[in-house]
Amino acid sequence: MVKIAKILFPVAVPEPFDYAIPAGMKLAAGDFVYAPLGRQGKLGVVWGFGERENLDKLKQISERKPCRPLNPEILKFINFTAKYNCALQGLVLRMVLRSHKALEPSPDVTLYQPTGEPPPGLNPARKRVLGLADIWPDIWPARAGEIAKAAKTSASVINTMAKAGLLKKFTAPLDPPFDLPDPNQAGRDFVLTPRQISAGEELQVLVRQRAFNVALLDGVTGSGKTEVYLEAAAQGLRAGGQVLILVPEIALTQAGLKRFEERFGAEPAQWHSAMGDAARRRVWREVHMGRARLVVGARSALFLPFADLQLIVVDEEHDGSYKQDEGVIYNARDMAVVRGKMAGAAVVLASVTPSLESLTNARNGRYAHVILPERPGAATMPEVALVDLKDHKPEVGRFLSQPLIDGVMQALKRGEQAMLYLNRRGYAPLIICRACGERLKSPDTDSWLVQHKRSGRAICHHTGLSMPMPSACLECKTEGALTAVGPGVERVAEEAALLFADARIEVLSSDTAGNPGAIRARMAAMAAGDIDILVGTQMVVKGHNFPHLTFVGVVDGDLSLGGGDLRAGERTYQTLVQVAGRAGRADKPGRALIQTHMPDHEALAALAAGDREGFIAAELGMREILGLPPFGKLAAIIISAPDARKANAFAQKTLNAAPRADGIEILGPSEAPMAILRGRHRRRLLIKADPNINLSAYMHIWKSRLRPPHKTKLAIDIDPQGFM
Ligand code: ADP
Repeated sequence: MVKIAKILFPVAVPEPFDYAIPAGMKLAAGDFVYAPLGRQGKLGVVWGFGERENLDKLKQISERKPCRPLNPEILKFINFTAKYNCALQGLVLRMVLRSHKALEPSPDVTLYQPTGEPPPGLNPARKRVLGLADIWPDIWPARAGEIAKAAKTSASVINTMAKAGLLKKFTAPLDPPFDLPDPNQAGRDFVLTPRQISAGEELQVLVRQRAFNVALLDGVTGSGKTEVYLEAAAQGLRAGGQVLILVPEIALTQAGLKRFEERFGAEPAQWHSAMGDAARRRVWREVHMGRARLVVGARSALFLPFADLQLIVVDEEHDGSYKQDEGVIYNARDMAVVRGKMAGAAVVLASVTPSLESLTNARNGRYAHVILPERPGAATMPEVALVDLKDHKPEVGRFLSQPLIDGVMQALKRGEQAMLYLNRRGYAPLIICRACGERLKSPDTDSWLVQHKRSGRAICHHTGLSMPMPSACLECKTEGALTAVGPGVERVAEEAALLFADARIEVLSSDTAGNPGAIRARMAAMAAGDIDILVGTQMVVKGHNFPHLTFVGVVDGDLSLGGGDLRAGERTYQTLVQVAGRAGRADKPGRALIQTHMPDHEALAALAAGDREGFIAAELGMREILGLPPFGKLAAIIISAPDARKANAFAQKTLNAAPRADGIEILGPSEAPMAILRGRHRRRLLIKADPNINLSAYMHIWKSRLRPPHKTKLAIDIDPQGFM
C-alpha cells in the first residue's frame, strides 16, 4: 500500500481529492500545497491521508508551500460548517482562504520620515514636503511616491532630502503588525457599576477556564454590555490569546471601533466584506500568525485562521444580518458557537433582545445567563407608547400623526433631538398610474419599483435594477399620471421639513449616505447636536450613542409584521426595542412613540407595556404548539429555474425523492412569496423536524438523491431566517 494525500481546493467541490506525494516531501494535515487541478496548478490544503494499492493515474502534488499550516481546529470547523449547512466543503474553505498573498511574509518597503523641525531657508519643494503633516496629520512615515504626490514634487527631491539629512530613510514591512492592545489600561473615563463589575467577572471566569462554554449577556439598551464584554476580552488578551468580536456589518462604524481602541489603547484589526486587498492580506496574515490579538469584524471574520482563539463575542446576537444567504448559507451566530467549541474557547452572545433560541439555551442551563437589568447611574429607560392610527389619522397624503408631531416639537423646544424611524429607503414604496391603475413593477422580479426622489430614479430593492423615474406610465403612456404611494424616509423628511421649517433635518439610509465616510460624518453630526431631526432606516439603530436624542417616533410599527415570516413578531419586537432604546441617555429621559394599525398585536402591546417576559412567554407558547424552533428544527429547499414549468417539475421531483423518516414533515412545494427573482422562477419546500432528529444529515441524504437539470438550482437553507 502507498500513502496518498487528500487535498481540498477552495472551489465548488464536495470533498478533497487524492494525490500522490512526491518522494521525500514531508506533509502534515493543514499544509498548503500546489497540485494540478484540471489544467492548472492550484493552491489547496492537505486535508488528511489515505492509502492506495498503487498510484495509477494519480496526479502528484507539485510543491509544498513553506508557510504556517492551517491548524486542526479550523479544518474541523470547515468540515462541520459544510456538513451542518449541507454546503460544499471547497466553498467553505474558500471563505477561509481569503488572501493567497497573506501566505507569504510581508515584503519590505522603504519609508521616509522627517528628522526634525524644518530648518530655515528651504526651497519651496522641500518646504512643501516637510509641511505635509499640517494638511495630512498621519502621513509619516511614508513612501517616496506618496510623499512626492502629496507635495506635488518628484521622487528625486525626496532622495536628495534624505541625503541632506532632512529625511530619515529606513525599511519596514509593507504590512506592519498591529499595535498590541493593552488590557490593563483603564481606557474609560467612568467607573463600572458594581453590577457591571460582577457581570464582567462572571465572563472572565469563563474565559479563564480555557474551555468551551457559552454565556448569554442579556441587558437593556445602554446597560453597558459592551463595557462588560470588553472586560472578558481583556482577560483573553491578558492570557496572551486572540479575541474576536463579531458585530452586525452595519455597526462597523468608526465610532463603534473607536470604543475598542480607547479601551485597549490600540486599533483593533478590522475585517468586513468591503475591504481592499492590502488590508485583507495584512489582517489575514497577522491573525494566522497569532499576532493580531483583537479582531473586530462582520460575520465573515469567523472564518479567519486564528492561531490561539480564546474568546468570541457575538454582539447583537439576535441580528438578522448574521445569517448569510448567498453562496454558503450559514448563521454566523450558530457557527460562532461551533467555532468556540472547536477552539476550546469561551463564547459570549450579547443582546438587548436575545433570540428565543439563545434565551432557551440560557434558561435550561446550557449557556450561562449574565443579566444587566438597568442603565448605570441616573439614566432611565425610555417610556414607550403606541399611537393607534385609527384614532390619530395623519392628514391626507401625510404620514405623521399629531402625537408624533407633538413629540418632535417638544424635544426641539427643549433644545434636544428627535429621530423618525422608518425602515424603508427612498421616497415611496409604490408608484401607481392614476389613469390606468398600473403599478410600476420590476421587469424580472416579483417586486414593485421604489421611487427615489433625490436621485430621480425608480429602483428595485431586491435586484438593484435602477432606471430614471419615467414621466409617463409605461402601460397607458399617460403623461404626469404616476403617483407616489406610501412613505419612504425621503418622504418623511419632506413632511418633517414642512412641519418644522427651522429644524435641521437629515436622512440616513444606505442611499443618502452610501459610503462609510458619509455615514460616519452624519452620525458624528448627530452626536454633536448639529442635526435636529434625523430620519433614518435600520442604519440608525446600531453602533452609536446620541446623548441629546430624547424622542423617537416610529412611523410604521407594523412594517415588519407581514410577510409570513415565523419570526416576524420577534423581529419587530427586537428592532423596536432597539430603536426606542436610542431615546434618552445619561440624565435626559427619553420617550418613544410607535404608530400602528395593530395596537393589540402581541409584539407591540408587549413593547408598550414593557412586558418582555409576557412577550417571550406568548411567543414561545406559540412556537411550542407549532413545533417551531427552539422546539423543533426547520430547513428550507429553494429551487429556481429559468421558467415556471422547469421549476415546477424539479420541485415535484425533489418532493418525490424525500427520504422517508418519522418526525419529519414536509410542506410544499409552493411558489416562493417572491416567485420570480432576476428572471428565475422560485419554488420552496419547508421541512419541519422533531428536535432529536439530525436534520442536516437527513437533508444531506435527500440532496444526494437529486441531480438538478441544466440551469436549475437547488439551495438548502438550514434553520432559515427569511422565507421569501
Ligand atoms: P449597551 O451595549 O448595553 O447598549 P454600552 O456598553 O454601549 O451599552 O453603554 C451605553 C453607554 O453608557 C455608553 O456610552 C457607555 O460609555 C456608557 N456607560 C456604560 N457604563 C457606564 C458607567 N458605569 N458609567 C457611566 N457611563 C457608562
